[in-house]
Amino acid sequence: MSIYDRYGVRPIINAAGAVTRLGGARMPAGVLEAFCEAARESVPLDQLQAAASRAIADVTGAEAGLVTAGACAALTLGTAAILCGYDIGRMERLPHCDGAFPDEIVVAREHRNGYDHGVRAAGARLVEVGFHEIVANAGVRRVEAWEYAAVFSPRTAGVYYALADDSRPPLVEVVACAHERGLPVLVDAAGELPPRKNLQAILATGADLVAFSGGKAIRGPQSTGILCGRRDLIASAALQMLDMDDHFALWDPPAELIDKSRVPGQPRHGIGRGHKVSKEEIVALLTALETFCRGDFDGDATQHRTILKDVAAGLADCPARCQVHDSRDGESSPWLEIAIDEARLGRSAVEVCRQLRGGEPPIHLGQARIYEGTLTLNPLLLRRDQVESLVNGLRRALSRP
Ligand SMILES: *Cc1c(COP(=O)(O)O)cnc(C)c1O
Repeated sequence: MSIYDRYGVRPIINAAGAVTRLGGARMPAGVLEAFCEAARESVPLDQLQAAASRAIADVTGAEAGLVTAGACAALTLGTAAILCGYDIGRMERLPHCDGAFPDEIVVAREHRNGYDHGVRAAGARLVEVGFHEIVANAGVRRVEAWEYAAVFSPRTAGVYYALADDSRPPLVEVVACAHERGLPVLVDAAGELPPRKNLQAILATGADLVAFSGGKAIRGPQSTGILCGRRDLIASAALQMLDMDDHFALWDPPAELIDKSRVPGQPRHGIGRGHKVSKEEIVALLTALETFCRGDFDGDATQHRTILKDVAAGLADCPARCQVHDSRDGESSPWLEIAIDEARLGRSAVEVCRQLRGGEPPIHLGQARIYEGTLTLNPLLLRRDQVESLVNGLRRALSRP
């Protein structure tokens, strides 16, 4: 009996990983306990965010940090901070800059992705540079750092960089180029954990603001994230997210988070007020971050490898080739590639996937390579007691009609 039965929603077997659409990661017991304990009392949120800032600074090496409502919200807040700094008049105008102050954020064309809506939501206009010539099979080059410098102008507010294993040009070059003009760089590193060293390594490039997801590998609440970096920018982000319904004479924000002497009066609710984070979420995220940094999940990879081998063995006589792959970062779990022989099966990987998703229980696998006929199994959220149902479901979907 699941609590979701009350609502007529069937829990799934999640072999796709901590994807948002499927509810993100599951919180470890200690994180859930922290969440419940935090719910029992009331605290001023600015003080709790100041404590969070210290904890985040400790593990990232940043000057300051903020718990946000996810990495995408961190992109909106980070952009709002870059556009406004401590200027509360600008904060009040967002998302409409109306040419009153610099509002252009420079981005490599090949870094554009759905999450940059978070950057645009703050009111920034994206200015694209460079080409990924290789995708057209016509060239050899990708975007280069000089192309950023070539479009910087008095209208430029900063740079947005989407980080992945193979992002070009190297972040450190983009940072150098932006800093030469005094421009800040905001990095989307939502999914770049593990490895744990990225908590520090990305900021060590000199990047001004970095966004991480809290509900993926860190295993905090799904609706949390981290924005960390320069103290003045984090202060601006905090001013634009926290509830501002107070009298200026009484308002007493922690100085390490917000320097009250830099604002002439009480700001109104900012653009990030709709991205609020609860005390329970902040405490749970900090607990999860501690757990993650301690390396409590490092043993999982060995168990996961055994599960993947069991699944592969269970599919040995099916029209599919299974192969276990090790993660590239050396910390995350291995994953299983299931390359379907579509001709022999007489059905496509899309049809297999549809059958699995509609099955009893529903099974969700990684589907990024579905049009190559390949499904991937990410064991992060797979429970041992689900393996038998998973193999049975896969065997049914991979047997000829
Ligand atoms: C998951 C993800 C996000 C969004 O993160 P949330 O914490 O769900 O808001 C943004 N960018 C990238 C690259 C991601 O993988």
